Amino acid sequence: MRYIVSACLAGVSCRYNSGHSRNEEVVRLVREGKALPACPEQLGGLPTPRPPAEFRKGDGRAVLSGRADVADGSGRTVTDSFLKGAIEFTRLAKAFRAKGAVLKDRSPSCGPRRVYIDGHLRGGRGVAAALLEAEGVKLISPSGLKRPPAGQGRSGK
Ligand code: SF4
Repeated sequence: MRYIVSACLAGVSCRYNSGHSRNEEVVRLVREGKALPACPEQLGGLPTPRPPAEFRKGDGRAVLSGRADVADGSGRTVTDSFLKGAIEFTRLAKAFRAKGAVLKDRSPSCGPRRVYIDGHLRGGRGVAAALLEAEGVKLISPSGLKRPPAGQGRSGK
């Protein structure tokens, strides 16, 4: 399977605080040519570093249907940048023919399972994750990647 992956999981310093969340299984997928790393928030035109952001009133699925917003710590709405980033990230996933997405949990863009809504960590999707899911891409947390047995794993699909 081919994947689009959160760039910070591949070791790119694109997080809001200029850090990364390198995951060795994700790096292995990139090295093997099976994964394309990208950052939806940078694709949406946001700078690095940038203020952290969270949802108001609902998760990424609610943002896609116009029922929720994304705001940064100062209360400034950044929904348009998150939507633009989600669209560009999904465009890249399609160009790469990705059938799966390995995404950073708790991110308002990438979160595949849990995100912060009105100050609380809840079940939900980031904006880019929600759009990918709507396009039929399977969402996977890094912990859901299987580590290949020693000496194997270089020949899988
Ligand atoms: S938007 Fe996604 S790829 Fe970019 S820093 Fe946040 S979690 Fe990582």
